[in-house]
Amino acid sequence: MKIQMVDLVGQYHRMQEELTVAIQQVLANGTFINGPEVKAFADEFASYLDISYVVPCGNGTDALQISLMALGLNVGDEVIVPAFTYAAAVEVVALLGMTPVVVDVDPDTFNIDVRKIEQAISPKTKAIIAVHLFGQCCDMEPLLEIATGHNLFVIEDNAQSTGATYVFSDGTVKQAGTMGHIGTTSFFPTKPLACYGDGGALLTSDAFLAEQARMISQHGQQQKYYHKIIGCNSRLDTLQAAVLRVKLNYLDGFRESVQTIAERYDKGLFGVAGIDLPMKSSFSTHVYHQYTIKIMNGKRDGLKSYLSSKGIPSMIYYPLPVHQQEAFRQLVRIPEPLTVAPELCNSVLSLPIHTELTQSEQEYIIQSIKEYEK
Ligand SMILES: *Cc1c(COP(=O)(O)O)cnc(C)c1O
Repeated sequence: MKIQMVDLVGQYHRMQEELTVAIQQVLANGTFINGPEVKAFADEFASYLDISYVVPCGNGTDALQISLMALGLNVGDEVIVPAFTYAAAVEVVALLGMTPVVVDVDPDTFNIDVRKIEQAISPKTKAIIAVHLFGQCCDMEPLLEIATGHNLFVIEDNAQSTGATYVFSDGTVKQAGTMGHIGTTSFFPTKPLACYGDGGALLTSDAFLAEQARMISQHGQQQKYYHKIIGCNSRLDTLQAAVLRVKLNYLDGFRESVQTIAERYDKGLFGVAGIDLPMKSSFSTHVYHQYTIKIMNGKRDGLKSYLSSKGIPSMIYYPLPVHQQEAFRQLVRIPEPLTVAPELCNSVLSLPIHTELTQSEQEYIIQSIKEYEK
């Protein structure tokens, strides 16, 4: 038994024939940059998300950078970010000469603690980056209310939660990434919707922002060789778009199998002393990009090595909060003491969860965790 954290090759074999056809078609056409598959995928993904515009780009980090540029943010502006996340959002804010304002997260959902956003806002604050971490949406309704009240832009970093849905108090249901001014996503191979290389996209319902994003991702050109604004070069390869068109059809099915695996963990690990299971919020579905438990008795690293000795991989997402990262710690503004994020960094452990994980592998993982915690 060789348990893997993710199994991209196993999953590929399920779609092998369709992928071969799709890839060969691009090879036969020879339009490797901005081929027809790129627009076709963007239209199909927009319709899946029920949003007006999908602007493909090179990766999820570029998508975040382009979103900040498209919104017209400037050097010296402040952008609110969560303390516990993948660093890309903080990095692009800093890269553009803006100040990341770090807000603590909710200990149960791992997402930005909406109750702590308002006191972090200053006259320089222009935007909030809401990262939907591990497969679950931030609490968007109150977050959007705060943003509206203070005239702030909302960018959703949806690299990890494609396919999750949020329910508003009036019953309206929306896809993750489609609730703010701009959503961004990554098609990095392990993400919920992924290609076989780098890829990303911006999501918006605003025609002006979509046009800005499109121009910025193509060297600021509206017309070839006429540069209207300063942009960058960030494209989704035609080959990757062809892969994504195939994989989009599998997204719902794959999500359901991963949710079944999460339910089995929930049942199997229920009541194990010292372990907190992922919390499901009342307002969002969970697509389990990660199944992340908390080991509350200081035994996290011990459990990780024990599992490793039994051939079970596990990962620490993330070992260090953003405000303690060497690259950012001089740059960030910290309005309130950050206590939850560092605690999470010391207690979280993500277990293997993917479409190819078998029931017997999972039982072995659950058994092994119980043995250790006994
Ligand atoms: C993966 C990821 C990114 C960056 O995406 P890339 O395509 O690797 O640039 C940004 N934010 C979050 C939350 C991510 O998980």
